[in-house]
Amino acid sequence: NIVSIKEKQLLQEKTLKHPCFTCGGGKYARMHLPIAPKCNIQCNYCVRKYDCANESRPGVTTEILSPQQALEKYMLVKERVPNLTVVGIAGPGDALANFEQTRKSLQLIRDYDPEVTFCLSTNGLMLPQYAQDIIDLGVTHVTVTLNAVDPKIGAKIYKHVDYMGMRYTGESAAGILLGNQLNGIRYLTRHGIICKINIVMLKGINENHITDIVKKVKELGCEITNIMQLIPVKGSAFEDMPLVSNKEIMQMRKQCGEHMKQMYHCKQCRADAIGTLGNDISIEYRTTAVKAGD
Ligand code: SF4
Ligand code: SF4
Repeated sequence: NIVSIKEKQLLQEKTLKHPCFTCGGGKYARMHLPIAPKCNIQCNYCVRKYDCANESRPGVTTEILSPQQALEKYMLVKERVPNLTVVGIAGPGDALANFEQTRKSLQLIRDYDPEVTFCLSTNGLMLPQYAQDIIDLGVTHVTVTLNAVDPKIGAKIYKHVDYMGMRYTGESAAGILLGNQLNGIRYLTRHGIICKINIVMLKGINENHITDIVKKVKELGCEITNIMQLIPVKGSAFEDMPLVSNKEIMQMRKQCGEHMKQMYHCKQCRADAIGTLGNDISIEYRTTAVKAGD
């Protein structure tokens, strides 16, 4: 790890005021900027006309903002939500599959507010390419969804991966995604970025593999894992998959808690959520925006 002690302290303070990375950080608010419509992979549990099911509540369609609109909305929200500490990009597609929008939005907001914590979530495919850029933009907290550390299992979860102008399927798709996720996460943690790993627990697919994922990401220096329930979306390949019960999720979190810190309070928020977790507020902001997946 190549981060100074002073930088580490600053990051710890930011983490304590991040409602998702710290249980008990509930008095602080976050705001998601819905600026990223496209995605570069196809998860079998996702229907792309809705929000990214890796981080957000699936089955919800969010309006897309331009970077300039994102800044305007941020200014409005900051005025009305005094406990706002975090600005995040959580879709509705993938933050790094829309990198120019992500870059521009974060630059505009950083010029306006040097203090606010930047957070983004991604499937990790483009992390090796953009990890240094997001660090340079001032992002300190990153969430990567990692559902398998074995391409055989990954092949059952991902329909395809679009990478460098080619479409991959099956184990080669899952292998490219996994390699990039692991290299990207390693790069981020070495540079002091606080990483959370989302894992969607899928009955009969990765349910017996989750401890392996948790052990692997612990080894890579991640901070916390967030084992989540699949919320089936109509029209997705996993639409009829049996659900993992609350009890099973809690048991898995408890079991994995022996290895590393677990998130118990994820609300699977919308890609345009604003407010404290579980207590979203709506702030009127008019746009001529397009819909997710367009
Ligand atoms: Fe859907 Fe997110 Fe998966 Fe992309 S990464 S296919 S938006 S769940
Ligand atoms: Fe936090 Fe979970 Fe909501 Fe993301 S989806 S902002 S991790 S509570």
